[in-house]
Amino acid sequence: MCGIVGYVGDKQAYPIIIKGLKRLEYRGYDSAGVSIGNKDGILVLKEKGKVADLEAYAADRDSTGSIGIGHTRWATHGVPNQVNAHPHLSGDGKLSLIHNGIIENYDSIKQTLISKGHTFKSDTDTEVLVHLIEYFKEKEQVNLFEAVRLALNHVVGAYAIIVMEQGINNEFIAARKGSPLLIGIGKGEYFVASDASPIVEYTREVVYLGDGEIARINKDEELDIKTIANMSKTPFIEELELSLEAIEKGGFSSFMLKEIFEQPKSVIDTLRGRINPETKEITLGGISDYEQKIMNADRIIIVACGTSWHAGLIGEYLFEDLARISVEVEYASEFRYRNPIINENDVVLAISQSGETADSLAALELAKEKGATLLGICNVVGSSIPRLTHAGSYTHAGPEIGVASTKAFTTQIIVLTLMAIKMAHKKGTITMKKYHEIITELELIPEKIEKILKKNDQIEKIAAEFKDATNFLYLGRGYNFPVALEGALKLKEISYIHAEGYPAAEMKHGPIALIDDEMPIVIIATKKGNYDKVLSNIQEVKARGGRLIAIVTEGDKTVKELADYCIEVPDCLDELSPLLTNIPLQLLSYHIALMRGCNVDMPRNLAKSVTVE
Ligand code: GLU
Repeated sequence: MCGIVGYVGDKQAYPIIIKGLKRLEYRGYDSAGVSIGNKDGILVLKEKGKVADLEAYAADRDSTGSIGIGHTRWATHGVPNQVNAHPHLSGDGKLSLIHNGIIENYDSIKQTLISKGHTFKSDTDTEVLVHLIEYFKEKEQVNLFEAVRLALNHVVGAYAIIVMEQGINNEFIAARKGSPLLIGIGKGEYFVASDASPIVEYTREVVYLGDGEIARINKDEELDIKTIANMSKTPFIEELELSLEAIEKGGFSSFMLKEIFEQPKSVIDTLRGRINPETKEITLGGISDYEQKIMNADRIIIVACGTSWHAGLIGEYLFEDLARISVEVEYASEFRYRNPIINENDVVLAISQSGETADSLAALELAKEKGATLLGICNVVGSSIPRLTHAGSYTHAGPEIGVASTKAFTTQIIVLTLMAIKMAHKKGTITMKKYHEIITELELIPEKIEKILKKNDQIEKIAAEFKDATNFLYLGRGYNFPVALEGALKLKEISYIHAEGYPAAEMKHGPIALIDDEMPIVIIATKKGNYDKVLSNIQEVKARGGRLIAIVTEGDKTVKELADYCIEVPDCLDELSPLLTNIPLQLLSYHIALMRGCNVDMPRNLAKSVTVE
């Protein structure tokens, strides 16, 4: 939620910040703003809307200056408008601050500050924080670094902030707790951002600021880092692995389409080096020290949100079916607040594309207190979940920028499959024949996805038939029940059509009442699994006049006679079928959203990396 960028050095800050904000726009895009420091003071420019709206607004302003901070917002407190947009200023206008996160105790701080004569312009929690810093700076007569530290000692919540001070044009202060922040180190210059994408074209040397740390970033000096409790820290410099091409659209009209079409390659990247070409043995380096622990776990509790939660459900089928390990899949946001029973023999596995999802992080913290073993499946290398967990595996899908997750989901399922068959093999719960059969099929997945992507034109035509529908029902059974949930979520997210996913058999217990001859029903009816049962569900839909779009196995004739439209996917093992059946559903949502004039990369009200509760 929200992207922040800062620059201090000898170059012009404004173009660097605008470019950085555009890269971070997937994180929030309801308003944007910058503060630029120069000899005349701090220039603040803010505008409702996207970064391009800010640019248009700022076009005729003199934005000269070599220090600056910028923000693209996803509102939590106060409507998205110009006043609530960041940066926010202190009462005397001398401090300017940007913030990603939520200050939970902002109201009590605000009341105290009001009683001391402070007045506020916006409805945000953020403005309270910059006033609190100003308050400590004056009261204690300290420099900004110390004032930020004192203020943060009174703050409850999550934040990544950058604060700059009028008249000090070579230095700003950054801090974080719960929200991500990294510092890029150049020659006589520093870059600060919520992720590496605004930094990668300038430098590969970065420091990931730790939780509860504050940095004084002065262009002429080494980084000065300490904790909120006032302990000095030595900066740990790491090398960025991200490439610039990976964060650009590469000829596609949207990131979402690019990422859908990247999936064969992403799957290859996820599998790379993990299956021995001769012995077919699986190596997941990140969990190798914990394999015994996972095998002997009483249960695996998967915590996740949104699309990752759907991947978790597929993980449940995989681990239980193949490795006979009991699995529970929990919404991280519910798990963390419901006093769950966790013990030392539990393995808690968080799945998160960004590795920064606030609720999943909090669920892990809770499990850590109870002594559970913590695992992560994340895409962003070096993010908070991999740092917190004992072990884990990266998906290596490459940066996912489209807000609606596609390749991250597919590659999360790949990692879950590798983990499950590795455990099944070690425990002896599957035969060698079955093990080799799954591995052989897994290695064929990229070319099978490639084949499905060739059906893009056919799927576009189907989308044209259904683009004006107001409701959709998605049905699936077994391994493909979570795919139905994910298909419905994808459509909701980017086309704003109401859609529900259901286990096909559950239809009779409610949703069947919705079916009439207007209602499109997407049903996953591949040949394996519960095919015959799904056929009965199709008959039930037909009997009520519903319009059927079926995802079927190549060559299927039975469903073709019943469904209005069929999209074929290559034959494959039931356990691996979600890796194929989810692809046409992504394309269907994509085309419907596009035909309805929606912005598929930046759907309304959403943001990619949910770093607030
Ligand atoms: N809570 C702050 C606001 O609503 C920051 C939200 C964000 O992370 O974008 O302005």
